[in-house]
Amino acid sequence: MTYDRDTLGRWDRDHLWHPFTQMQGFREEELLIITRGEGVYLYDLEGRRYLDGVSSLWANLHGHRRPELDQAVVAQLEQVAHSTLLGLAHPPAIVLARRLAQIAPSGLTKVFFSDDGSTAVEAALKLAFQYWHNRGQKDKQRFLKLSEGYHGDTLGSVSVGGIPLFHEIYHPLLFDTLEAPAPYCYRCPHRQDCREQCLTALEEQVAVHHRELAAVILEPVMQGAAGMIPQPPGYLAKVREVTRRYGVLLIADEVAVGFGRTGKMFACEHEQVSPDLMCLAKGITGGYLPLAATLATDEVYDAFLGEYAEFKTFFHGHTYTGNPLAAAVGLANLDIFAKDRVIEGLAPKIERLAELLSKMADQPHVGDIRRRGLMVGIELVRDKMTREAFPVARRTGHQVILEARKLGAILRPLGDVIVLMPPLCITLDELETLTQITYEAIDRGTAGD
Ligand SMILES: *Cc1c(COP(=O)(O)O)cnc(C)c1O
Repeated sequence: MTYDRDTLGRWDRDHLWHPFTQMQGFREEELLIITRGEGVYLYDLEGRRYLDGVSSLWANLHGHRRPELDQAVVAQLEQVAHSTLLGLAHPPAIVLARRLAQIAPSGLTKVFFSDDGSTAVEAALKLAFQYWHNRGQKDKQRFLKLSEGYHGDTLGSVSVGGIPLFHEIYHPLLFDTLEAPAPYCYRCPHRQDCREQCLTALEEQVAVHHRELAAVILEPVMQGAAGMIPQPPGYLAKVREVTRRYGVLLIADEVAVGFGRTGKMFACEHEQVSPDLMCLAKGITGGYLPLAATLATDEVYDAFLGEYAEFKTFFHGHTYTGNPLAAAVGLANLDIFAKDRVIEGLAPKIERLAELLSKMADQPHVGDIRRRGLMVGIELVRDKMTREAFPVARRTGHQVILEARKLGAILRPLGDVIVLMPPLCITLDELETLTQITYEAIDRGTAGD
């Protein structure tokens, strides 16, 4: 099944509606069609090679066509491609649940599978809500979120999202939430004692509203889609302390930060935090197949136990929940982490990346460089002194990634924040290539201002 470029281009324009994409402009740009991958590289229809600088949307960890992962899918295909977890079980889901519980922050012993990050968050929200309901505390129905937070695109996860551009229009469809400020230090009105101000605001909200609060939800350590906003040290531990003190559950959305991205297996480990619920997706299959998991404590799980007729059941599940192919590759993913000592191997890469990025700080339109582990956000501004942004219509971030493409790297910006999130298997030399391309692309993409 091979088609020429013109046919594919025409059919794409005629039929394919791309996610998070203004199709009007997109249809006029040259379409990049990826046909294959190998290691940290992707190849297009013409055979051109690109460094996968954002891990195919923050998912890939060990490279494309990694033999052990390919093999895991093939081996499972020879058994069964799909069988349900509704009333039945299969070995990959059972073993993966156990393995996840073993490596997760302590106390997270139960694993509820779903299909992607959004559904992992939906499950966490409903679990938190029903947990209090089942325990007879029916006033605890609300959620506290961070501004600029992102938890997915389904309506429940949008309700706890805080990115106006993505979420504002759906406001009439969403449930009401409480909001605490994101510790966005670069654009913080306080400029000083930022950490204290943000934490005080959050603590006040919890103190005032804890009787009606089911849970606080956040992306621990780094708010990803917001434009890579790192939390100051101590922030997460403090949120854990406050939620515990006031009897409010903590949902850690590790969909982006989990599986080594921040330098530890899970971001919560940076502050020895154990949340009550934890959402995993993106990297859970090494970026191979859609799979997600919501991890819960025994305390949460036990609140759903009862006689059938008590209806404490979690009436929730998706057709492909815990799909055997995805679970099998999820297991192979964890095997690679163990066998290759992936987490231990990150330290020199992180160090080199930090060093390489520091050279960009002098570029005239680089306003802020934010990094945790191998997750990077480079915020571009028109004026470095005043921190004035580029006009939206200029689409500076987009211009930069088009330049990067010409230079041999695939990136995807968040507005005018250039994101780098390479596969964990990237080598020191490849990191250098990636940052060199990014440097040059920023120069070209911001030229003329
Ligand atoms: C990507 C993301 C999601 C949504 O995951 P999908 O698989 O795209 O539904 C949720 N939370 C965070 C923190 C994410 O980065």
